[in-house]
Amino acid sequence: MDVQYVQGDCIFTRTNKLTKQYPYLTQNINTDVIIVGGGITGAILGYYFSKNNIDTVILEKARIGHGSTSITTSLLQYELDSNYIDLKSYTTPHNIIKSYELGIKALDEIKKFIDKYGNNCNYKVVDSFLYTDKDKEKIEIIEEYKFRKEAGLKVELIDKSNNPFKFDIEAGLLSKGGGAQFDPYKFTQDLLNVGCDYGLRVYENTEAIDIKYEDNNVTIESIYGHKVRGKIVIVASGYNTELFTKRTLGTKTTTFNVATKPINNLEDIYKNVIIRDNEDPYNYLRTTSDNRIIIGGEDVTFSPHKFNKNLYTKNYNKLEKRLTKLFPNLNIDIEYKYCGAFASTKDNLGFIGKDPDNSKLWYCLGYGANGILFALLGGMMLSELYLGKTNIYMSLFKIDRFD
Ligand SMILES: Cc1cc2nc3c(=O)[nH]c(=O)nc-3n(C[C@H](O)[C@H](O)[C@H](O)COP(=O)(O)OP(=O)(O)OC[C@H]3O[C@@H](n4cnc5c(N)ncnc54)[C@H](O)[C@@H]3O)c2cc1C
Repeated sequence: MDVQYVQGDCIFTRTNKLTKQYPYLTQNINTDVIIVGGGITGAILGYYFSKNNIDTVILEKARIGHGSTSITTSLLQYELDSNYIDLKSYTTPHNIIKSYELGIKALDEIKKFIDKYGNNCNYKVVDSFLYTDKDKEKIEIIEEYKFRKEAGLKVELIDKSNNPFKFDIEAGLLSKGGGAQFDPYKFTQDLLNVGCDYGLRVYENTEAIDIKYEDNNVTIESIYGHKVRGKIVIVASGYNTELFTKRTLGTKTTTFNVATKPINNLEDIYKNVIIRDNEDPYNYLRTTSDNRIIIGGEDVTFSPHKFNKNLYTKNYNKLEKRLTKLFPNLNIDIEYKYCGAFASTKDNLGFIGKDPDNSKLWYCLGYGANGILFALLGGMMLSELYLGKTNIYMSLFKIDRFD
């Protein structure tokens, strides 16, 4: 039985019309780079490789952008899921700061893309806010503030005295303009449109079911028996990597989201900020261009093949309750409820680079809460690597760093 990675009424594929359908593969073809997975990560890779004049093919087993791309909340933040205090047992302060700087670079890259090709995906630069309403967690936020401030990042400390929001705060960390948000499905389609103008070939409904490595090539066989021969394959298949490796990459949970109907009296302050609390597991929220609020969190251990209706209903209800508590003056009417697999790593970073034992097998896996920004970095770094240039910071994302 197929593992179900996404469940429910996924907002981004429900609110968007299908803009373009790609063909399925009906013959054997040759290319230089084969990307397996047609979500936002595959689309980012396809864009960067084809822009660099590298012959590239994307294979997507179902429909473009209907995997976790259809439910990602798309909070684009330079900061990581955990704070410095939690991360320091797994990595160095230098690496944490470097990860923040790389996040800022990835945010700049998205802005450059939008500036060049137009804003067709409701992209918006917003503030990024991390907070706690618990007195005992105040110190953690203050430590994180000091850590970032010393590193030269632009952050403000918020407390009860200067709280601009209507909900309670003991301590908060505001990064003005430190984040962005967009519609991930539209952004994916946009990247593919531009990529195809550069020569990218995209095949939907084309599942990769077998892979063979030869001296100078790698061949992927599709479910209907057609073959794609390339020089390398890049795994952009999200949380589904079994075809390529036996490695356990990341710890999987199921994370839940609910999205409201458009809200008339939503105040501007909430339209310009993405918010995360400091709970474990944490809640995160954003608004959309049509004034909905999306809130997520309540993560539980991922159980393949198991749909626990009672548990899911309970978690959706918890999110709704949390929203009502945060915004008692708003009419909270939930329209979409959905959940999906999510993978995290000890140092909060994804996986980008070559397999340590196979130079033709490359990975771009945006694990962690910053999956989209990691995919952006993967697109930049891996296309450079293909052209012979190694980015020194790619080592942060090494596949075997936990071995
Ligand atoms: C609820 C939720 C909220 C999230 N919030 C955020 C957030 O706020 N910010 C952020 O940056 N990240 C967030 N993430 C993480 C983010 O969703 C992921 O990083 C990103 O969407 C992953 O995109 P992807 O293209 O790698 O995966 P997917 O969209 O899942 O794409 C992988 C594709 O590969 C295809 N595929 C798999 N196997 C094969 C095969 N054998 N042959 C061909 N195709 C195959 C699948 O069909 C799928 O379409 C969130 C994730 C979830 C679940």
